[in-house]
Amino acid sequence: MTQALLVINSGSSSVKFAAYDVAEPGSALARIANGRIEGIGGKPRLLVWGQGGALLEDRRISISSDPVLGPEEAFEELFDWLGRHAAGRTLGAVGHRVVHGGERFARPALVTPEILAQLDAFTPLAPLHQPHNLSAIRAIASLLPDLPQVACFDTEFHATQPWVAQACALPRAITQAGVKRYGFHGLSYEYIASVLPDYLGPVANGRVVVAHLGNGASLCAMRNRRSIASTMGFSTLDGLMMGTRCGSLDPGVVLHLIGALGMGVQAVEKLLYEQSGLLGVSGISGDMRTVEASDTPEARQAIDLYVYRIAQQLGCLAASLGGLEALVFTAGIGENSASLRRRVCEDAAWLGVALDVDANEAHLPGARCISTPGSRVAVWVIPTNEELMIARHTQAVLQGREAHDWRGGGA
Ligand code: ADP
Repeated sequence: MTQALLVINSGSSSVKFAAYDVAEPGSALARIANGRIEGIGGKPRLLVWGQGGALLEDRRISISSDPVLGPEEAFEELFDWLGRHAAGRTLGAVGHRVVHGGERFARPALVTPEILAQLDAFTPLAPLHQPHNLSAIRAIASLLPDLPQVACFDTEFHATQPWVAQACALPRAITQAGVKRYGFHGLSYEYIASVLPDYLGPVANGRVVVAHLGNGASLCAMRNRRSIASTMGFSTLDGLMMGTRCGSLDPGVVLHLIGALGMGVQAVEKLLYEQSGLLGVSGISGDMRTVEASDTPEARQAIDLYVYRIAQQLGCLAASLGGLEALVFTAGIGENSASLRRRVCEDAAWLGVALDVDANEAHLPGARCISTPGSRVAVWVIPTNEELMIARHTQAVLQGREAHDWRGGGA
């Protein structure tokens, strides 16, 4: 009987998932279906797509007693659907995206109750993600206690950064207590690193910056396809301006909010994580499509600031690398907003970026080069695939192999 792997990326109001056929070591994992449960806490809906993107399911989930669908009920629905469409497959394991692994988790881990308790400690550092990542693991454990679950960390890819990129200029005792720059979006960067040679050839191992621009956003500087610096740091707040997060902020502002304005820690947390970024500056939305569609001066300024911060931080990472040979755009905004890419590339002309305007505007699926043949910096759009990365790690953990197989040409 064929085994399948389920990958879960659980957020505050939605659960994204993907199912893969388990492959033999060394062969490619094949995605059977993907989808999401959206509207958790409101009007929940299950959406599933099959191979080739065909819509297999789109239905409201009826809630019988409680007016709110909790994580356990959401997963019951999902397992029910998967069970009815398993076509003879059994479920071998579930792999999860877990945003923060701290210093302790430098590799994907088979989850135990002790590990879950340790991961709880990182919730204050990623409050938008970590509690939802962990409650998904708990919900599945209570439904299917014997099913192996593997936690894959967004921090892991950045463990290769040099000390100076990870350090905070704080007293040693604070650093030793774990206050350092971890970096995030590691599963996305690891996937991009795994496919870079397919597109960039030898430049893949050169000085590359990848821009992951989704609801959360960060840049990662890579050399030899390893992270050497990133714009996100200790928490998921640092670096670029995001949908609802502020990005880099003078710590004096936080002191001012608490000391002079009398705000409590929770109110400050809400302000910085949920009410800032595109949403705070535009006053309209944290969703780039909505902000781009608006012609208010505030919306235009929000995009100006968003672009300015990317261009500025790109310069910082180019300095960390000692130059720049390739720039890669990925995630929702990076893959889809031609105008955002154009503006960033215009601001990066001093680094040797020359954009092919027509290639940039073309709405083509898949990876593509958008720089001119003469551009000193190769610019690419490469769709990310965090789910596949999680599936690869989950399979490796189950097979007792070392993770990072992609370097050796594994699944
Ligand atoms: P997440 O971080 O939740 O995975 P995504 O990678 O899906 O997020 O990115 C979501 C962001 O991508 C939103 O701001 C959304 O508006 C933006 N986006 C998606 N499609 C487009 C588009 N065609 N043009 C501009 N922005 C887009």
